[in-house]
Amino acid sequence: MSKIIVVTGASSGIGALSARALARAGHTVYAGMRDTGGRNAPQVEAAAEFAKEHGVDLRTVELDVSGQDSADAAIGSIVAEQGRLDVVVHNAGHMALGPAEAFTPEQLAELYDTNAIGAQRVNRAALPHLRAQRDGLLVWVSSSSVRGGTPPYLAPYFAAKAAMDSLAVSYAAELARFGIDTTIVVPGAFTAGTNHFPHAGRPADQAVEAAYEERYAGLGDHVGRKLAEITPPGADVAKVAEELARVVGLPKGERPFRVHIDPADDG
Ligand code: NDP
Repeated sequence: MSKIIVVTGASSGIGALSARALARAGHTVYAGMRDTGGRNAPQVEAAAEFAKEHGVDLRTVELDVSGQDSADAAIGSIVAEQGRLDVVVHNAGHMALGPAEAFTPEQLAELYDTNAIGAQRVNRAALPHLRAQRDGLLVWVSSSSVRGGTPPYLAPYFAAKAAMDSLAVSYAAELARFGIDTTIVVPGAFTAGTNHFPHAGRPADQAVEAAYEERYAGLGDHVGRKLAEITPPGADVAKVAEELARVVGLPKGERPFRVHIDPADDG
């Protein structure tokens, strides 16, 4: 059955491709992006072109998960247009790279804000509608890194994803009684088709870039080498998007609670 879906962070990578895969599956999809009138204007145009080319219902909506007003306005406009909202895909996120002694509390707060608190802003806007419908689905794009570990210099990002994952697990139990389903998508490291990893070579705060360069020269290369050890070259986020869309299409009751997507798995 066709659903009304919003995907956060849909200007690139997993979000952009999931929005397209879901639209191709016959759903009405709102690709949530921040700065649609500025930096992401080309992504808005690309989504419109995709919709035209494939004859699918893919729309874009301004949605910056770092602001409650933005989340409220985005969800409000979708419900005003469609009369309902069925699925929220919590995908927006980013990482930052730095050694343990250098991350400031402000930098950690910023990572938690985008990766975990941002989803909560969208929940605050969307859940009243899903609860009133007594039907809906939250899809959380978590990460295999929530268990911590490699590559190094990413601990605050891993911790922020772990916070998001924990919210997903606890809310699932709370929301099931209102007919709201939960699926947690858990990708390993996929380095192709995403802007995720170039960001990892960037210090958490541009202002301290020079200091990092001086003190931690080659740190980004080190992470790159570690990544190459744990993920096959060219592992493409398209695989994550296809799997996410497949799971959303399953009937309630048949949807897995947690879906691990391994870049090394050819299946
Ligand atoms: P990308 O960097 O390609 O995509 C991240 C998306 O999040 C972009 O659309 C970006 O928008 C958006 N975003 C960042 N901040 C905000 C914000 N404040 N409001 C709205 N959107 C925002 O990376 P991926 O597609 O690879 O990652 C998507 C998700 O998957 C992330 O949550 C990531 O943690 C997770 N993940 C990725 C893995 C991978 O291997 N690629 C592995 C495990 C998890 P903009 O373009 O405007 O910056």
